[in-house]
Amino acid sequence: MLKVGRSNLALTIFVPWDCKNKCTFCTVKKDYKTFKLSLSEVISTLEQVFDIDSFKDVVITGGEPLGDIDKLIELLDCIDSLQKKAHRKKNLYINTTIPKLSEEDEKKFIEALLRYHIDGFNVSRHIGVDFTTCDNDLMYDMKKAGCRLRVNSVISKWDGTEDEKKAVKDFIAFWRFHCDDISFRWDYRKAKDMNTLKSLDNPFVQFLNTFLEYEGSSGCLVCNDDYFENARIHFHRGCSSTLIKFGDIDILNDVVISPDGSLHLDWEGHEIEPGKLKEAIR
Ligand code: SF4
Repeated sequence: MLKVGRSNLALTIFVPWDCKNKCTFCTVKKDYKTFKLSLSEVISTLEQVFDIDSFKDVVITGGEPLGDIDKLIELLDCIDSLQKKAHRKKNLYINTTIPKLSEEDEKKFIEALLRYHIDGFNVSRHIGVDFTTCDNDLMYDMKKAGCRLRVNSVISKWDGTEDEKKAVKDFIAFWRFHCDDISFRWDYRKAKDMNTLKSLDNPFVQFLNTFLEYEGSSGCLVCNDDYFENARIHFHRGCSSTLIKFGDIDILNDVVISPDGSLHLDWEGHEIEPGKLKEAIR
């Protein structure tokens, strides 16, 4: 039996085009090599499930959503039409590295920002990963266009050395003035079971606690976020699967449309037909 978990159940759409980075901790790179990438299939699935009331958040991720601006606009246009048809606004977020765009694409992108309401951007800037092909300047233009920006950094290695501590402090010192908040995310490959996630003994969160004021926890079983400094700095533990088993009940927290248009109950490949998902939840 399927039940809705978190109140802001997310529908996560993987765009059918890849990013150019090669982060060692990337969990989706293999999908872009094996899936048959198809925007029309992604849109077809989106159209079948978008009106499920339980979906409060829609997240466009990748790959790299800004890697093909024309196709991104096609997807945003589709979401806009579906929202108008349903008379319902869902929260819309985009995960991106903000790659450098051509002058023409940059203009189209800024125009799209003014046309479609996007509630926030999660911008990847992982410590130790080369983001020189990305565009910090465009972030300033996005801020001017009223965008809410969160910088997202994956912590894939943490030995607690003085160099690592300095890198994190420098990162916070730089980004706290250039974005709305900063989210450190624990490498999903290191995410453990639920009980471990509830404990505050993670060495990275303990380090943050040595110089940032702890504000509390989101209480969400899936994100397990801890907040510091008026929630401007987060530590996001995540967990290995967003589908949580409780007896014979499967608790849904994130439904995924893969780059080939197939629909999944989590990030681990539990596929479901759009009609069956609609029957199970509203
Ligand atoms: S930027 Fe994101 S999608 Fe691209 S390789 Fe890194 S983790 Fe993967």
